[in-house]
Amino acid sequence: MAIPIPSRQLFIDGEWREPVKKNRIPVINPATELIIGDIPAATAEDVDIAVEAARKALKRNGGKDWASASGAHRAKYLRAIASKIVEKKSELAKLEAIDCGKPLEEAAWDMDDVAGCFEYNADLAEALDKKQNASVTLPMDTFKCHLIREPIGVVGLISPWNYPLLMATWKVAPALAAGCAAVLKPSELASLTCLELGEICKEVGLPPGVLNILPGLGPEAGASLASHPDVDKIAFTGSSVTGSKVMTAAAQNLKPVTLELGGKSPIVIFNDVDIDKAVEWTLFGCFWTNGQICSATSRLLVHESIADEFVDKLVKWTKNIKISDPLEEGCRLGPIVSGGQYEKVLKFVSTAKSEGATVLCGGERPPHLEKGFYIEPAIITNVSTSMQIWKEEVFGPVLCVKTFATEEEAIELGNDTHYGLAAAVISDDLERCDRVSKALDVGCVWVNCSQPCFCQAPWGGKKRSGFGRELGEWGLENYQNVKQVTRYLSDEAWGWYKPPSQ
Ligand code: NAD
Repeated sequence: MAIPIPSRQLFIDGEWREPVKKNRIPVINPATELIIGDIPAATAEDVDIAVEAARKALKRNGGKDWASASGAHRAKYLRAIASKIVEKKSELAKLEAIDCGKPLEEAAWDMDDVAGCFEYNADLAEALDKKQNASVTLPMDTFKCHLIREPIGVVGLISPWNYPLLMATWKVAPALAAGCAAVLKPSELASLTCLELGEICKEVGLPPGVLNILPGLGPEAGASLASHPDVDKIAFTGSSVTGSKVMTAAAQNLKPVTLELGGKSPIVIFNDVDIDKAVEWTLFGCFWTNGQICSATSRLLVHESIADEFVDKLVKWTKNIKISDPLEEGCRLGPIVSGGQYEKVLKFVSTAKSEGATVLCGGERPPHLEKGFYIEPAIITNVSTSMQIWKEEVFGPVLCVKTFATEEEAIELGNDTHYGLAAAVISDDLERCDRVSKALDVGCVWVNCSQPCFCQAPWGGKKRSGFGRELGEWGLENYQNVKQVTRYLSDEAWGWYKPPSQ
């Protein structure tokens, strides 16, 4: 049965508003390659209007309606949004699945995480009230100091397509909890669920302008937001190449940025593991979300003594993955998000072959699926550290494999990348896991698993994977300024200058 695609405009100042230039972008279902609807495309003119609406929302009623309201007041809206997400979970999950190709069960899981993230940030907003006016101990008792946590202002939030609503929520929920007003620019490749968030904001009566949602092309809507003089901060998730452009644009106005970028994360398997369990985590670590995960553990490092048995099982498990339309029951791998990404992933596989690597399985269209951007998950061996497949992020279901002999060698190979987002280590020896976790130069290490992510824990990378942390209390801090108020308590004159003679 066809899933109805709501026809939406830009969400600005609490209303649906046609883009100034009336541009629209077609929505293509990656499972069928058919156009199933369209979304509005914002340009610089719309960004100006949305930023002005956000600025007005911050200042409305002297700030009392939002920016300087209590955290508890804002938490009520966040909780209302969370319950609407729960209420609409099935409809939102279906929209997500047909928009970006994510298996329906994963999309439903994402919606739980979206609701959980709004709830969690509601808790943080409430806790914020207790943190206000915290005193700072000073070394002179003639002075007294306290701190005010203020929203950073109008924030521009730019998000990717791989977890369309969830990645947006990681930014929207803490920004709103902190008292900011936001302009969200979701990816042009998957904006349907982010637009539905606009409808939810209307339904819960979020004050106009607090959240504005502007789908559009990156170089038009995204770039205008990043360089906008009246935006106080940019939070970006996407590729390292775009991240660098965003940072350059923001630098023109000395605007702070946080960047959540790509990765080429390792998974290290020692020889004391339960092989089947480790194989399954290896698959999940790389092929979940159709392999389009920033933190995908896409470089497998396996101890040489178990490598043959491990890789043999890995190939058998991989061939057993159900590849189908994301809406089909039991689907575990859907299509790549778009034709462009599909071609890119195929090119990575053909370059790996031409550089001398061996493709043990996958890397091509599954024979049973004639339409759609489907690629069988690929396992690639005989990889050297100079090859593209070892160095660059594929962002598709492609795993490359190398062996190691010692723990030191595993760490060295694990860190042999410009990226530093995540890593996984699998071993029964927990002391070894501790040593390796400390030695890996990344922002997140999974031990005896890969990918589970909780909104209570900090998320972010090092090196070319970006900087700043989302989620947890660190995520909220991204959207706050801390102001110190220092008072002179003494009745005495300061006495540094001589008073003029009478
Ligand atoms: P992308 O960089 O192509 O686009 C990301 C966003 O930036 C989109 O909304 C896009 O429209 C916008 N954009 C494009 N050009 C722009 C410009 N010049 N100025 C401002 N905005 C612009 O990335 P993508 O293909 O949507 O997402 C995949 C990438 O995101 C991968 O590299 C992946 O690793 C990364 N990612 C990182 C995380 C993380 O948490 N670190 C999470 C998800 C995805």
